[in-house]
Amino acid sequence: MISINVIVNEFFKIVQSLGSPSLVQWILRVLSIFQAVFQAGWPENYELSDGDRFDFIVVGSGSAGAVVAARLSEIPEFKVLLIEAGGDPPPPSVIPGFFPTLQGTEYDWNYKAYFDEDVGKAHPGGYINYSRGKVLGGCSSTNYLIYSRGKPEDYENWNRIAPGWDWETVLYYFKKLEDMKDPVIFKHPQNARLHSTTGPVKASRPEPLPSTVAIDNSRLQSYEEMGIPRVLEINGPEVVGAARPHFTFYDGRRSSTAEAYLRPAKDRTNLKVAKYSTVTKVLIDPSTLHAYGVQVYTSSKKLINVYATEEIIISAGTFNSPKILLQSGIGPKEELSKFHIKTLVDLPVGKNLHDHQTIQLIYKGKRGLETGFQNIIAAPHLDTLPAPVQCGYFRINDSECQYPSKLQPQIQFFNTYIGAGASAVILIACKTIANFEEKLCLGQAATNVFDEIDNVLLVLLHPLSRGQVKLRSSDPLDDPLIELGYFRNKNDLKIATAGVKRMNTLINTTYFRNVGGSIPRLSVTACEHIEWGTDDFWECYAKNTVASLMHAVGTCWMGEDGVVDERLRVHHVANLRVVDASVIPLIPSGNTNTPVMMIGEKAADMIKADFYKRNIV
Ligand SMILES: Cc1cc2nc3c(=O)[nH]c(=O)nc-3n(C[C@H](O)[C@H](O)[C@H](O)COP(=O)(O)OP(=O)(O)OC[C@H]3O[C@@H](n4cnc5c(N)ncnc54)[C@H](O)[C@@H]3O)c2cc1C
Repeated sequence: MISINVIVNEFFKIVQSLGSPSLVQWILRVLSIFQAVFQAGWPENYELSDGDRFDFIVVGSGSAGAVVAARLSEIPEFKVLLIEAGGDPPPPSVIPGFFPTLQGTEYDWNYKAYFDEDVGKAHPGGYINYSRGKVLGGCSSTNYLIYSRGKPEDYENWNRIAPGWDWETVLYYFKKLEDMKDPVIFKHPQNARLHSTTGPVKASRPEPLPSTVAIDNSRLQSYEEMGIPRVLEINGPEVVGAARPHFTFYDGRRSSTAEAYLRPAKDRTNLKVAKYSTVTKVLIDPSTLHAYGVQVYTSSKKLINVYATEEIIISAGTFNSPKILLQSGIGPKEELSKFHIKTLVDLPVGKNLHDHQTIQLIYKGKRGLETGFQNIIAAPHLDTLPAPVQCGYFRINDSECQYPSKLQPQIQFFNTYIGAGASAVILIACKTIANFEEKLCLGQAATNVFDEIDNVLLVLLHPLSRGQVKLRSSDPLDDPLIELGYFRNKNDLKIATAGVKRMNTLINTTYFRNVGGSIPRLSVTACEHIEWGTDDFWECYAKNTVASLMHAVGTCWMGEDGVVDERLRVHHVANLRVVDASVIPLIPSGNTNTPVMMIGEKAADMIKADFYKRNIV
């Protein structure tokens, strides 16, 4: 009988014999989509029963939770339950280029997050759609795939607040999780020492398409002209600089935590994964303050209790972890009493919400419709990210803008080049993802009908402003109330505006001078009374078009005055930890997925160590 391997090998021989590299590429691309659609291999669903008992219960299978559950289940004696409100990642999650199609679907919690009254007026209703992955892998299965760690000083700052999180310690865990697929990195000793090839999460940097190599180079050249040096990688030793970023995908598959940690663990008999199950609260003995289980709303719409003999680990993310704690009686007394929830421990749960706010900027070149062909050539390359993207970091040269320290950048930016004629896509993204007012969206779309544009997202890396996550009602299935709090601290607006003005000098660089570069006069209703292009205008523009890079952190922050200690144990409550983005005390200088996976890795080691200590002593 002919085996499947023989058929596959014969098939590949035929593919190779076709001779045309581009045809072969096409076929392989189709195969990678095939792989995403048909070869899922996710862990099976475990049907929970009332009274089930485990050693460890992990709530939420996101960037951190999946890591914790998988690592704990490496110990065969541990019985681990992972509870996830969503189900398996769909093909558009697995295939990198489909990432924009996940927001606003059943794989998203579809939260709304609100601005203060005088901020974000370009967003009708005063809110943005704040996406959160509701699926195995959480946001690591739905995010934009940028692989970024932040800078060493970020973690030295954590260490000052919560000892044990210094750079050299966290670097061990960053390396533990990483399988760096970019060979260039290992040719440079300064970079090589920061990376590894032995972890489960694959990071890669696909070669740019031949049609976009020149664009990539000319943009990196432009930044050099602006004083932002070209560096080998954004996770290298430099504080400022620009490069093509690395991504969390390889070989046509997203390396989410579902892919990297749960798929390889799917056959472990000591790890059960309960999908479509929502934890409503933690069960805590009010007299001893021992956590002993969780209440779950199951896929069959029943409320049941499941119990943990060792620990409960809440990894439901920056919005849902505080919500679960608040519903369980852990939080600010004044908040809980509003909903007649008995306060077991008065802690600042939900406070310290902070985020990377973004300002979207567009720069136009006069190379016209011929650039549209680049869109057409790039479009089928969905097994990678087809548009040229560069990422950079800089500081503002102003004595008044000295926060944070010189060892951290103040601004990050992402520059995506879009050839002419993609206006429809821009319009849809503007309305559905950014939730901008109609006038601004039409203006954005108009810039690209006949002209190439650079779409730049400017990111305020270290905001001083703080928002809060609160309960909306006592119903645990209700969405949390998210107050973004952007620009409550005036320093943030000053740095963001200075960042916009510096970025605007892009059009004075050689490339843009050669193509008649300009800044389109986009109209924002709230700023119409101010002369376009003045400093006041850009301040108004930044304040009212501000949006989020979806990096919310901090609502259960670690530290003495926070919610958890440096080992991520909830203050004053036994057997209860929080492990996810909410424990971050100060947001790092980069995207948050990789730092959160690092937190998951370190937490798993701490839990194992504490277990052995408890059981030996
Ligand atoms: C659209 C988008 C784009 C982003 N782009 C990037 C990027 O390019 N690079 C980057 O580094 N970061 C990016 N981020 C941010 C990054 O992905 C997040 O910071 C990180 O994934 C957060 O991890 P977490 O473990 O804290 O939470 P999550 O990953 O959100 O995990 C929480 C999990 O808990 C589950 N859950 C929640 N409540 C319950 C409950 N009550 N019961 C059971 N389960 C529950 C959720 O369904 C989810 O699976 C992006 C985020 C989004 C949304």
